[in-house]
Amino acid sequence: MGMKVLVIGSGAREHAIAYTLLRGDSVQEVTVAPGNPGMEADGIRTTRLSPANHAALIDFVKDNDYDWVFVGPEVPLIEGIVDDFATAGIKAFGPDKAAAQIEGSKDFAKQLMERHGIPTAAYQVFTDLESSQRYVREHGAPVVVKADGLAAGKGVTVAMDEGTAMQALDDIFIDRRFGQAGAKVVIEDFLEGQEFSLMCFANGTDFWPMPISQDHKRAYDGDEGPNTGGMGAYSPVPQIGQDVIDEAINAIIRPTLAAMSEEGTPFTGILYAGLIATTDGPKVIEFNARFGDPETEVILPRLTSDLGAGISAILNDETPQFDWAHGNATVGVILASAGYPDEPVTGAAIPAIPDRANTHVFYAGVKNAEHQGESADSAASQLVSDSGRVLLVECTAADIATAQQQVYELLDSLDVTGLFYRHDIGAKALNR
Ligand code: AMP
Repeated sequence: MGMKVLVIGSGAREHAIAYTLLRGDSVQEVTVAPGNPGMEADGIRTTRLSPANHAALIDFVKDNDYDWVFVGPEVPLIEGIVDDFATAGIKAFGPDKAAAQIEGSKDFAKQLMERHGIPTAAYQVFTDLESSQRYVREHGAPVVVKADGLAAGKGVTVAMDEGTAMQALDDIFIDRRFGQAGAKVVIEDFLEGQEFSLMCFANGTDFWPMPISQDHKRAYDGDEGPNTGGMGAYSPVPQIGQDVIDEAINAIIRPTLAAMSEEGTPFTGILYAGLIATTDGPKVIEFNARFGDPETEVILPRLTSDLGAGISAILNDETPQFDWAHGNATVGVILASAGYPDEPVTGAAIPAIPDRANTHVFYAGVKNAEHQGESADSAASQLVSDSGRVLLVECTAADIATAQQQVYELLDSLDVTGLFYRHDIGAKALNR
């Protein structure tokens, strides 16, 4: 009998995790809490339980005999869901509350890196407007202003001039745009170079790196517009050499996990390093305590081993096995609601996406359309957009150029009224 797994979360990332778990032999059943109705076509179950209601989730796991839990998003991790599951005798894959601070507080992550000589941008932390303004005036632009706490990828301003930096400080300290997450602000030196994401499975002492990928944070083509949760990704990233990846593993991932362990907050789960390849070697822009979104949707299709077996091995203190495809590439493009990220307009009809062997759709902000007197059948099958990022179309092919061409052929054939996507995901790999 295969294992039963509960996945916490509701996005395209959790869809990809659940889908990949079911692709392996070891897992027989996956339920996502709360999930979304787009996942159901893949045989994934959903249950309307909130990730914030730990007690209800614990009851659900016990009543339904789940073998273990995979926690997708950062918020429940930072709120200590893994600790709560552990207290209830339930195995959950992800860092505990103490270790999740590596994502929950940029100040925590920065201090850890400073103590252990892990390469990252020089920075200062401020808790008031006046001293942060003074610093920006003295330091000059470019400079990067970051709300300390969680802001769903939107709390960062890369200010190429002083005025933009001052505006970001006003937003944080006067308009309180990020609430409590902006009680502290980190001001960082601007780093120049290609970005890439390096994620690994970690068990507190050892780690197993995944192939690298590249996200596209800005809303519009050519990296214009505001920062978003991510508009698309691809893997591998051929313009980042293996020497740079090796250096990132040896100078960043290994010492970070060793430091966490040494300081009494060992990290088990997915450690995500957002990196910039500078002329001075790779440097950390941020750590996340979980799978990246949209990176996961282009990384997991390249996994050739059984994801559930690997995670289950880590949860049982055994050595896991993770194998990856070589010689293929994936490109994933997010379809977002018009107006995202500032003012997403929801309620757009989601077009039916034709089935192709080498493409997959991972759903995020979708819900079933309200029943409006049509037949029950058509109402049930009609999805509408329900938040900023709506879905991701992923394509796997022999190389990035082919994957990119095929993913856009498909997207360009759809009626995307009320939605939008970037047209240049993967371009940086091709225009080298
Ligand atoms: P974060 O949420 O920390 O990943 O930041 C969002 C985006 O801002 C990153 O993906 C980068 O594009 C950019 N960014 C953050 N920190 C820096 C930095 N120190 N130098 C240059 N760009 C940065």
